[in-house]
Amino acid sequence: MKVLKFGGTSVGSPERIKSLLHIIHPEERQIVVLSAVSGTTNSLLEVSQAHLNGDRKKAHDLTSILQEKYNSFIRKLFSTDEGYSNAKELIEYHFNLISSLANEKFTAIEEKIILAQGELISTTLYHIYLTEIGVSSTLLPALDFMKIDEDSEPDMDYLSKHLRPLLDKNSDQTLFITQGYICRNPFGEIDNLRRGGSDYTASLIGAAIQAEEVQIWTDIDGMHNNDPRIVNGTKPVAVLSFDEAAELAYFGAKILHPQSVFPAQKYKIPVRLLNTMEPSAAGTLITHDSERGKIKSIAAKDGITAIKIQSSRMLLAYGFLRRVFEVFERYKTPIDMITTSEVAVSVTIDETRNLNDIIKELNRFGTVEIDSDQTIICVVGDFGADKHGYASRIFEALKHIPIRMISYGGSSYNISLLVNTSDKIEALRSLHNRLFE
Ligand code: ASP
Ligand code: MG
Repeated sequence: MKVLKFGGTSVGSPERIKSLLHIIHPEERQIVVLSAVSGTTNSLLEVSQAHLNGDRKKAHDLTSILQEKYNSFIRKLFSTDEGYSNAKELIEYHFNLISSLANEKFTAIEEKIILAQGELISTTLYHIYLTEIGVSSTLLPALDFMKIDEDSEPDMDYLSKHLRPLLDKNSDQTLFITQGYICRNPFGEIDNLRRGGSDYTASLIGAAIQAEEVQIWTDIDGMHNNDPRIVNGTKPVAVLSFDEAAELAYFGAKILHPQSVFPAQKYKIPVRLLNTMEPSAAGTLITHDSERGKIKSIAAKDGITAIKIQSSRMLLAYGFLRRVFEVFERYKTPIDMITTSEVAVSVTIDETRNLNDIIKELNRFGTVEIDSDQTIICVVGDFGADKHGYASRIFEALKHIPIRMISYGGSSYNISLLVNTSDKIEALRSLHNRLFE
């Protein structure tokens, strides 16, 4: 059985919804995971924000605008009176629910209920559409089997235990449709897997049912070997290992939700990234074994701050790094890159909300220096300890660019370099020429 996930743009217009049947073969047993229609989750977030700010008028206006968008959407999607009136009833139901939440005390609980409406609407609309054109399908309510625990981690046992019976009960059915992104939390409340979480849903379901393959359908033809907005002549990477994909996910989060790699990797489910606009293109296959000894892709992440702590107390001391890291832990700030010397350590962060407090505490250990507007450039491939020559090719490509930090050997799949953001474009282009051309 396969799992196919379609993102917001793939269901973003009535035409796009209709053309999904070029990709979905209803006679094959499969689970189709849908995101909300593109733009919807953002709009629902704005509605919630207005409520949280106590601005009822704004919330009401934004809700009406969104409802009107759906009204015109269904006018174009349906061609029979029956299909249209079922869809109209659906839209009214969900928008009445959204409006009714406005009368209660608005908290994070209500916000999550509102955010869930996008996927509930898109999946049911698709089901009504398929019914209208005579294609049989079964809706699987994600809120009945998708659950996160106290640490917001998905509960795989719960998922398998509750999803399997739903599939078994419908053993004569082939086409199942379910909501990406949404789930319940340990209190039974509606919650979600965070923005972009539909990919994660697909990969979790794939793992739970031991799917033959998970397909992530978006609007670009796979993971590219460099940023196509900056570098000319980038190409989709044909095959990536799970380890390589995990390294890239932090950077390429726009194409694949970073956490999606892990369930697929654990249960060895191949993941394919495919393009709805070009269904026959090969895309990118993420799988257990990938070609060895190759450089696969270059990626960059902006908005990085480097922090250097210099202290003679670090010399020959133990426990120093632990005390430094504890500061970041107290402020729930993840560290990305780390480099050390005998008397200094540099780390990077991309979450600077608590930077001032962090600096204040680090000042107790030594001299602290901050560099903002930094970019991490990451080269991903198979750089096992038995391989040689990669580092020199990378440095050769960057010989005219100041490098603030280098991280090599942390894993066998990643070489990361920190540069000024103003040098990013030149760094990406020069590396591309040197490594791929
Ligand atoms: N609709 C959700 C979002 O926009 C989930 C997703 O599209 O993956 O974040
Ligand atoms: Mg997405």
